[in-house]
Amino acid sequence: MICDAHVHVGYYTRFGRDEPFYWSPRKVAGVLSRCGVGEIIVSSTNAQVAGIARVDILREAREMRLRAGAAAHQFYWLSGRLYDEDRNLSFLDTGLFEGLKVHELETPWMQRRKDDLLRVLAIAEERRLPVMFHCAPLPGCSAADLATLAERFPAVRFNFAHFNPPDETIAVMERCPNVFADISTLRTADFQAIPAMTPAVMDRILFGTDFPAMHARTNVGLAAWYRKQVEQFASVFDHDRAIRAFHAFLEGQRA
Ligand SMILES: [Zn+2]
Repeated sequence: MICDAHVHVGYYTRFGRDEPFYWSPRKVAGVLSRCGVGEIIVSSTNAQVAGIARVDILREAREMRLRAGAAAHQFYWLSGRLYDEDRNLSFLDTGLFEGLKVHELETPWMQRRKDDLLRVLAIAEERRLPVMFHCAPLPGCSAADLATLAERFPAVRFNFAHFNPPDETIAVMERCPNVFADISTLRTADFQAIPAMTPAVMDRILFGTDFPAMHARTNVGLAAWYRKQVEQFASVFDHDRAIRAFHAFLEGQRA
């Protein structure tokens, strides 16, 4: 069964609605299990919603665990606001979270809070946690900008989420063996960049969908949409290799 390295719960814009829609752990876990997804890495978009505090995110994470058990690997989406609420990242002591997610367009960590970000990565290094970054060709979240972090923290495993753009991401992955990348939002047309990858880079490609973000743009049936993603992925990538990459990213290389 496919493992999806990029899934969300929480409030998110939904096509045709004025108010954000709440994607509950129950709903997300239900849709994905109907689509035959084995394991997921999931983080909550509620990190970006003012008024939702750490305590609410912990409650939601407990519900996710109840619904999906060990199949859901939860990453704490660390916004600047949530960091200020808990600078020692004591939420990690709950045992609910296996990694962190940061998003430069939501909190400008690289451009405005670099010292805090370096401190967060030092904690991730100490706790051997993987970290997922929103990656896009924009200041502070381009693959080239983020590569400086991967080089500074070689023991931390990074997911440069979205594979955006492919050629720059591949170049960084060739240089930094601790960089993985999920293919969420990669268009089928961009798959042509794939044959240029060395086997070592291919071993760090993660299947990811950004589910349910697509529902902000379209009202497509989720199961049909999901099956198409899996099919397109399978036409280019080796399924077993992607599952190995998923676990290597989460757990590191086993001794
Ligand atoms: Zn996402």
